[in-house]
Amino acid sequence: MNSEKLANGTTTVEVQRTRHILGLSGGKDSAALAIYLKDQGRDADIEYFFCDTGSELREVYDYLDRLEDYLAKPIERLSSGRSFDHHLKRFNGFLPAPHARWCTRVMKIEPLEAFVGTDPCVSYIGIRADEHRQGYISHKPNIKADYPFIDDGIVKADVFRILEDSVGIPDYYRWRSRSGCYFCFFQRRDEWIGLAENHPDLFEQAKQYEKVDPETGKLFTWVQGMTLNEVLQHKDEIRSSAANKRSTKILAWQDRIMLENEDDPACLVCTL
Ligand code: SF4
Repeated sequence: MNSEKLANGTTTVEVQRTRHILGLSGGKDSAALAIYLKDQGRDADIEYFFCDTGSELREVYDYLDRLEDYLAKPIERLSSGRSFDHHLKRFNGFLPAPHARWCTRVMKIEPLEAFVGTDPCVSYIGIRADEHRQGYISHKPNIKADYPFIDDGIVKADVFRILEDSVGIPDYYRWRSRSGCYFCFFQRRDEWIGLAENHPDLFEQAKQYEKVDPETGKLFTWVQGMTLNEVLQHKDEIRSSAANKRSTKILAWQDRIMLENEDDPACLVCTL
């Protein structure tokens, strides 16, 4: 319990202090929020944390190091204490998927809730004023969400300005539109191709998780209806279809990231 003792004449009472936490996902919005609050001198009580699944990209860890330097405070690394492979076994080998997102619960939300315990807590969330996403990442009644970007009217151009003036933008945004595990099933097909090109070893590891049920022939793949090998085989058409979707007036890669994340179904604790 996070508390302090206050003496009042002859009596001493124990008062529970409200904690202030800010979760860094390795993505741009949470990073920008941490920097924004620090630059405004609003960071004194903030505890930073990162839920580490052990399956993150190397670039995420590099970015967290840069952030730690800028923030001049440690970023607490939270973990479920077990590997993804361990959890996968617990879930009978069923790969997580958008409709069965056990990975977020056991590798992100539960470590966060253990970190907070029963302490009253304000959790700062980096949803911007120009977004319409839900921001609640935990259902614990002692965790209250706070949205400084929404309150202060901060939009995407502000986020990029904040990052460009401080720690920069994570390198993986050049080929991927969000943070998270290297095998995240929310990746689009062209992002899997980006993984194969930028981290061939991780792409190979992700392939090892795909299975065919020998009895039914049913495929258990990361991408619906397609193995990762097939994704690579269709590389040209996947790339050209992704380019067509982006098309015409969207020019800057920053704009491309933002466009691709509209209506983002991924969990905020992983990607924000
Ligand atoms: S990043 Fe993707 S795979 Fe990793 S915990 Fe989040 S939803 Fe699951």
